Order: sequence, then structure tokens, then C-alpha cells
Amino acid sequence: MTASEIRNSFLTFFESKQHKIVDSAPMVVKDDPTLMFTNAGMNQFKDIFLGNAPAKFPRVANSQKCLRVSGKHNDLEEVGHDTYHHTMFEMLGNWSFGDYFKKEAIDWAWEYLTEVLKIDKSCLYVSIFEGDAKDGIERDEEALEYWKNHVPENRIINGNKKDNFWEMGDTGPCGPCSEIHVDLRSSDEKEQIPGENLVNKDHPEVIEVWNLVFIQYNRKADGSLVPLPQKHVDTGMGFERLCRVIQGKMSNYDTDVFQPVIQKISSISDIKYGNSPESDIAMRVIADHIRTISFAITDGQLPSNNKAGYVIRRILRRAVRYAYTFLDLKKPFMGELLPELIATMGTAYPELENRKELIQKVVKEEEDSFLRTLSTGITLLDKIIKDTRENDYKVVDGKVAFELYDTFGFPLDLTELILKENGLVVNRKEFETEMEAQKTRARNAAAVETDDWVVLTNDDTEEFIGYDFLDSEIQLVKYRKV
Ligand code: ATP
Ligand code: MG
Ligand code: MG
Ligand code: MG
Repeated sequence: MTASEIRNSFLTFFESKQHKIVDSAPMVVKDDPTLMFTNAGMNQFKDIFLGNAPAKFPRVANSQKCLRVSGKHNDLEEVGHDTYHHTMFEMLGNWSFGDYFKKEAIDWAWEYLTEVLKIDKSCLYVSIFEGDAKDGIERDEEALEYWKNHVPENRIINGNKKDNFWEMGDTGPCGPCSEIHVDLRSSDEKEQIPGENLVNKDHPEVIEVWNLVFIQYNRKADGSLVPLPQKHVDTGMGFERLCRVIQGKMSNYDTDVFQPVIQKISSISDIKYGNSPESDIAMRVIADHIRTISFAITDGQLPSNNKAGYVIRRILRRAVRYAYTFLDLKKPFMGELLPELIATMGTAYPELENRKELIQKVVKEEEDSFLRTLSTGITLLDKIIKDTRENDYKVVDGKVAFELYDTFGFPLDLTELILKENGLVVNRKEFETEMEAQKTRARNAAAVETDDWVVLTNDDTEEFIGYDFLDSEIQLVKYRKV
């Protein structure tokens, strides 16, 4: 099946179960001070879960454009280095707002994967929440019973609070979840190490595909949990991961979601995909990042020097530098990838084609401007790396990172990435001091992104504990309850 067919089959399946198919919300969030980008399918339904808005339909399904590059979900470092985390990805989801609950969610997830897509049942593991005595939450026996109708007990795994209990923030709706993992290893490997030992262990071939969240509690300000009068289902499945499973590939990047773009990068750079680990990582990063940048621009977020715009600029500069260093691409080229991107994603997201010229223009301008200073910055950085190593130091002066930022346009995370490739780190504190000293722009001290959402309060139960990260004007202030 092609990626398009897989996406359609998901929507058709849930339509046949009386779900209303809705559009993806924009990936760029404009009206929520606690969230810059959509990071999960359920974001657009937040008010329904909070009880602030009625559900228009009791059952809904869609494919949602998500971006995970900041706050609680930041997968940026993984992208390109592993084969299953992207910055932007599509999350397939189905929801019940006070309608069906665990039984249907579990039965239908299983039916879709094993009967519609015919995934070999013996490759699948499921997890249930093991409970948490300290928090007074019981093991999810109910989910266990429903899973037992489909899965032998040795492939039902207990999961901890980190992986198997979802909370919107410090307070609000929450509940246990069940994840579905797929073991794509060869039978020899499976004999050596049982799959259950590798679930949620970052193994490249034992990967999480679907998360079924059962929202059944409300966490109150005092930390206690009360059962919700109306229970909800919120599921999210990684589309690119699913395509990889169905297409029998070793990597998301080997599916038809990414291959056309990767092949184009390969032809522009005249380097084969598979040539070396470094050039492969670079191609994967670029293929990932051009999607993110294109969809961000399409959704109205241009690269800029602050907030969400700077996140997009950082991603773009990261791609330019990977191309420059590892593929020897020293001129703008990213706009040339758009026809391939549109060929793979344009049918599901026609807005891409409509905004093609704008994307091309913006990307080219950004590349031009960064390429003007990139080589001088890299030469400077190379010298610093050499000096630091010769002196047997591991930590690079924060002032240097600041100069690279200020004069050469190197986002801090880019400098850190290059240093990491050379076994070095930067003194962040010094960088921040420099940044503070130079600061002329107003601070935005209100945005909080420690969870999927953080409810901003003015009461004194929260104390300021520091900056989450700092780049240009992005100052995410962390609070914790006191
Ligand atoms: P992981 O443990 O692999 O990081 P997660 O538990 O953080 O995933 P969820 O928040 O449960 O992910 O999101 C639901 C689904 O979205 C996951 O089961 C996975 O298939 C997919 N997914 C999550 N993050 C990414 C990503 N960065 N790129 C691609 N797919 C992702
Ligand atoms: Mg994750
Ligand atoms: Mg997980
Ligand atoms: Mg998960």
C-alpha cells in the first residue's frame, strides 16, 4: 500500500465506525499562549476535554500535522539520527467525547491493524498502565481484560507512569493509556532477546506505533484525582511509522513518504543515499526539515527572529548546515525539493501546492542570508574546536557561542550540535549572560511550555525556577508548584 492509501484506509475505517472525519488543525498555533505548535492530534479538542466547549460530534477521526521541537515533546536531537522520530509528523487519531470507551477503542485499534492492514499479530505488543500506589491510581485492569480478548498475556506489558499515564498539565483531564508496539526484528534476533524486553527501550526495530489514551480522571489543584462524569478516548498513531511497518522497511525514511525527496537530495548533491552514515543522516535531516519548514510557512509562520518564527529559522539553518558540511551543498537548493514534497503530500494537503511560490521564495531568501555567514562561522568554530581540544578542554566559552549567534547567525542549538559532533559542549551559562547583557528587546516572560499545556495562574502557588531554553527572544519560563 502507498502512504496515501494507508492514510485513506485509516479514515475510511473510522468513518465506517461512525466517526466524523475532520481536517487537520494548523500546525502553527496562534491563539494559545501555552502552545506554539500543535504537538498532538488532541490539541484542537482541548476545550472539549476541559469541559469548556461542547463536542460537535461524539466521534471524530483525522490525520493531524504535528511538530515536536520544543517543550515537553522535543524530538529534534533524534531526527535523522534515529529512523522513527521526525520534527513534523502526521498523527492519525480517533476520538470519543463521552461516547465509546476502552472496549471499542481497543477492539477497533486491533481490528484496523490486524484485519484491515493485516499486520502479523505475533509482531505486536501492547502495554497497559501498571498503576501507581503513591498517586493512588490502580492498574488498568479494564484495559487488560479487553486486550486479553486479542493478545496472549505474555505480550501484554505493564507500563509505568511516564509511558502509560497521560496528563494535560499539572491539573485537568488525565488517564491511563495503552500503547501498541511493533517488533520488526528477524526471527533469529527475536529468539535471542524477547521483544517484551525491548519495548520502550529505544530499539530501532521495536517501536511504538499507537497510543490509546483513556481520559477518565480530573487532576485537581491539590493533586488528587476524581473520576470524570464523562469519559473520553484520545488516540494517536504515527503515520510515517505505520507506513514503514506496512511497507516492510527498516526506516521511516525508506517509505514513499520520504524517498522521493531523499532521491532528489541525492541527485542534487550527486551522493548516493547509503554512501556514508554522515551523508545519510544529512539527507534524512534535510528531508525531514524541508517538510516542517514548508508546512510552517503554509500555515502562516514565516522564519523570523522571535518565538515560533525563530524555531522555524533554527530548523532551516540546521538543514542548511547539514547540507553544507556533509553534502557539500554550498548554494541554495531546498526550494528544488518542493515538487517531490508536493507529489508525496500535496493530495492530502493541497495548501502546499497553493503556497508553493511563497515557500520557495522564503526558503531561498533564508538560505541566501545564512550562507553568507555560514562559512566564516564554520571556519571560526573549527579553529575553536581545534584549540579547545589541543588544550584538553571539553567546554567551549559561552562568549564564542554568543559571537557565532550574534555575528554569524548560528542558533545556539546549531553551535551545540557541531560541538557535540566533536565531543565538546558549550558553557551555556556564559552564553546566557552574554545574551542578557546584550538584550535590548522586550522579554516575553509569560509563555510556559513544560507540559502539553500549562494553565497560567497569577496565584503564588508557583515560583519562578529558571529559563527552559534561551534563543533570541524565546524565553520559556519554567514554573513549578510550590
Ligand atoms: P516515542 O516514545 O516514540 O517518542 P511518544 O510516546 O512520545 O513516542 P505519543 O505522544 O504517544 O508519542 O504520540 C502518539 C504516537 O505518535 C506515537 O505512538 C508515535 O507513533 C507517534 N510519534 C510520536 N512522536 C513522533 C515523532 N517525533 N515522529 C514521528 N512519530 C511520532
Ligand atoms: Mg516521544
Ligand atoms: Mg512513548
Ligand atoms: Mg506514547
